[in-house]
Amino acid sequence: MIKIITYLTPIFPFLLACNPTYQNTPQSEAEMADTVLTNGKIYTVNPQQPWAEAIAIKDGRYSFVGASADALSFVGKDTKLIDLQGKMAMPGINDAHTHSWQGGFKLLYECNFHFTATPDEIAETIKGCIQANPDAQWIRGGQWTSDFFKNYDLGSPKKWLDAVSEDKAVYFQDDATHNAWVNSKALELAGIDKDTPDPKGGAFVRDEHGEPNGLVLETAKSVIEQYLPEWTLEQNVASLDAAVSHANSYGITGVNEARTPPEISLAYQQLDKQGLLSAYAITYLQTPRGRRDKPFDIGPMQVISEKYSSEHVYTKFAKMFLDGVPTASRTAVMMQPYLTDNEFPEVTTGNLLIEPEVLFQDLVELDRAGFTVKIHTAGDGAVRIALDAIEKMRTVNGSSGLRHQLAHVGFIEPDDLPRFAELNVTADLSPYLWFPSPLIESTIGAVGERALRYWPIKDLLASRTDVSIGSDWPSAVDTMNPWPAIEAMVTRKNPYSDSEETLWAEQAITLKQALKIFTLDGARAYRLEDLTGSIEVGKSAELIILEQNPFSVRPEDISDIKVEKTFFAGDVVYEKLTP
Ligand SMILES: [Zn+2]
Repeated sequence: MIKIITYLTPIFPFLLACNPTYQNTPQSEAEMADTVLTNGKIYTVNPQQPWAEAIAIKDGRYSFVGASADALSFVGKDTKLIDLQGKMAMPGINDAHTHSWQGGFKLLYECNFHFTATPDEIAETIKGCIQANPDAQWIRGGQWTSDFFKNYDLGSPKKWLDAVSEDKAVYFQDDATHNAWVNSKALELAGIDKDTPDPKGGAFVRDEHGEPNGLVLETAKSVIEQYLPEWTLEQNVASLDAAVSHANSYGITGVNEARTPPEISLAYQQLDKQGLLSAYAITYLQTPRGRRDKPFDIGPMQVISEKYSSEHVYTKFAKMFLDGVPTASRTAVMMQPYLTDNEFPEVTTGNLLIEPEVLFQDLVELDRAGFTVKIHTAGDGAVRIALDAIEKMRTVNGSSGLRHQLAHVGFIEPDDLPRFAELNVTADLSPYLWFPSPLIESTIGAVGERALRYWPIKDLLASRTDVSIGSDWPSAVDTMNPWPAIEAMVTRKNPYSDSEETLWAEQAITLKQALKIFTLDGARAYRLEDLTGSIEVGKSAELIILEQNPFSVRPEDISDIKVEKTFFAGDVVYEKLTP
């Protein structure tokens, strides 16, 4: 390794903006770069040197960032020289919230339909899946939207699905992966009938005779899931491999696995050991799900964390669920009650899953053990409770330096905004679906006008909050494509349509702010900002080359941007096929 020489001292900070930074100019062939890219518009996300023309990569790290002419002294006889021909390049993207293992299963093994699909389209899809899997006992997949049976007069999920699949059990998740549809065969295999009680925090919705009608809510879903055939380690590894390739194709080089069961932690480690993990994997180990009034024992989680970390797999992370979703099911915890109607006559502020005192005690233990905690807080009431618990925990533990995260945080009471920075808490948002869309409309139907004050991203940045963004794939979105979210953060319009309607336009941020959130701030959320997230000498070379330059296209066209090449640790891990 060559020693990194800093040519510029902080005494001359004004020089930093216009000068290249580099290691020693190579003196011998062995010191030449592995790859040099020249003639580009390279957006580095490094405030000291925001733009460059050229970079050199040696042993997976940047050895030079600067002008094309200077880069040529890094080119040896074995160096791969890439002429960018004016194309834009930038750091790889960090997706701060995914359920990639579930996405991988969808890509490889599941029966998929879009949540806008009609009953005929879904029936066709199911028939196709049955034909393709003649030996399977279960047909599983999704995703449906909660308004489906409102929009189509089909009776119940059970009745309708029985007509399509009598012999094979059917299990389909909704677009938030919180609820499921099942048919009679599935209920039979799981031994569920009218005498089965509802579990805490969930329900088997019943017909007028008390028989389950095939709609399974929240924790009741886990009762069915116990009967689904288990995936093998080989299948788990294959699905992660597919998910990470999918991520790389959108320029993503950091994947947060927002809830990781032990067998998936093992599969990530296996994939890494096979040399096939082409992204940083941040695995948030799962904590007990469902309603809880006692702290849990973190011992087993510590064992898993130690056992399954590897070179690119970071396991000192934990996921907790404090509430549900603010859509028709009304399970996110809100400060103000949900709207009532004929279907939901009961006045409710949502469904708190962990008592505040228990949350506090769990946080004390997890923070002490070095776990960064991501807390699912979809409603403003849950945000308040989580911030209170973190504040109280800090009075006991002091500052551990860990930046805990609140996930989704679509709604935040103005009084709570400054508390994120004060408590060193990251806001982890998923603004991928925009208005108008079925999910937002369902939210408006449940919380009313409050839904129009969704995702206060500009306010969060103004209060100096660390913000990270995640797709939540495969919940709600079909792909991990980050560009629609980047566009929408700039325009506050639906990136999937030409509609001029905006959602809280005052919260629009600049493209530079959005790109920083998706790159350097994403790396910061999982404490890898010194390793990745920007293009700087000494950092690992996670880099993407774009077909279009987001700074020169219309903001409404940012969602169409395609990635041409993705580098992870200096290696090309995705290359778009040219027709
Ligand atoms: Zn999620």
